[in-house]
Amino acid sequence: MTKDRIGLHAFLQDPAQGLTNNQPLADLLLQIADTVKMLSAMIAQGAIADMTSKLESQNVQGETQMKLDLLSNELFIDCLRDSGLVHGLASEEMDETVLLAKSVGDAPFIVIFDPLDGSSNVPVNVSVGSIFSILPAPQNHLAESTDYLQAGNQQLAAGYALYGPATMLVLTVGKGTHGFTLDHESHEFILTHSAIQIPEETAEFAINASNERFWEPPTKRYIEECKEGVKGTRAKDFNMRWVASMVADIHRILMRGGIYLYPKDYKDHTKAGRLRLMYEANPMAMLVEQAGGLASTGRTSIMNIKPEDVHQRVPIVMGSRSEVQRVERYHHDYDNGNNENDKLPFYSDRSFYMQ
Ligand code: MN
Ligand code: MN
Repeated sequence: MTKDRIGLHAFLQDPAQGLTNNQPLADLLLQIADTVKMLSAMIAQGAIADMTSKLESQNVQGETQMKLDLLSNELFIDCLRDSGLVHGLASEEMDETVLLAKSVGDAPFIVIFDPLDGSSNVPVNVSVGSIFSILPAPQNHLAESTDYLQAGNQQLAAGYALYGPATMLVLTVGKGTHGFTLDHESHEFILTHSAIQIPEETAEFAINASNERFWEPPTKRYIEECKEGVKGTRAKDFNMRWVASMVADIHRILMRGGIYLYPKDYKDHTKAGRLRLMYEANPMAMLVEQAGGLASTGRTSIMNIKPEDVHQRVPIVMGSRSEVQRVERYHHDYDNGNNENDKLPFYSDRSFYMQ
């Protein structure tokens, strides 16, 4: 590569990134980058190092844990503790938050993370990721459980690692979204995708279509119109993409546009959505919006939600701006009794949705 390549370390010292007044944040991001490098090496060993096995245990969400779920969680915790910069943390893999600060005012950050996203893809050697959200810690008392429950718009930084054909780190400190690729020769993250912009228009959607029978009418309307193709309402053909690894699906959208939906549905009335607000939706929402996209529940902006629980779930609609706005409009129409589906014979039996 050319000699003017920019490493993550140099990038974080760049005054244009607005981090010069927050050296601790730069240091924490470098620490996380080192963890990602270690995890990347572990994941790449695959079955050789018995990285692909399942455990008997379940996590807080009732999902079967993979050996790598636990290893990656321990790796993240050790790194965050060693940094001396983290006041408290919360992880997908642990019921309770963990206080690391020894005294009031000690360590400025709270970190909330999903150490291994998409881990059911590990045994089949498909891309997985790690997702993290960095929030300010209280300065005048030791963090209590309520101090973790900050809206996404309070995030100081957010990012994910993608362990794919190449390992990438994509992050934002609130000044654009930037992508770095791990150079396996120098062991450095190199800036390869500066100021990512999600195209406003798209012809790709990503949704778990096996849940179609549980979707709300506005979601059905949107997807049905996409599938109608060039002869339908949208007057163009759409493609569907679904990796079932949130990091991989959102990464594709950051790279070339599209819309990602894990919407509210009627599958389980006790769950507001499938994905988790604080360590999946919020960090991805910040990355997407810093890249010119939008992140919504279909009814409200994700980053304005006041969390009630570290592990709470939310519906997610994010990606290309005009598509997310369209989905929001369909929800608004439906909530106001103005449902276009009623005009279609297929959707005329409202009782179907009211069960
Ligand atoms: Mn996970
Ligand atoms: Mn996850």
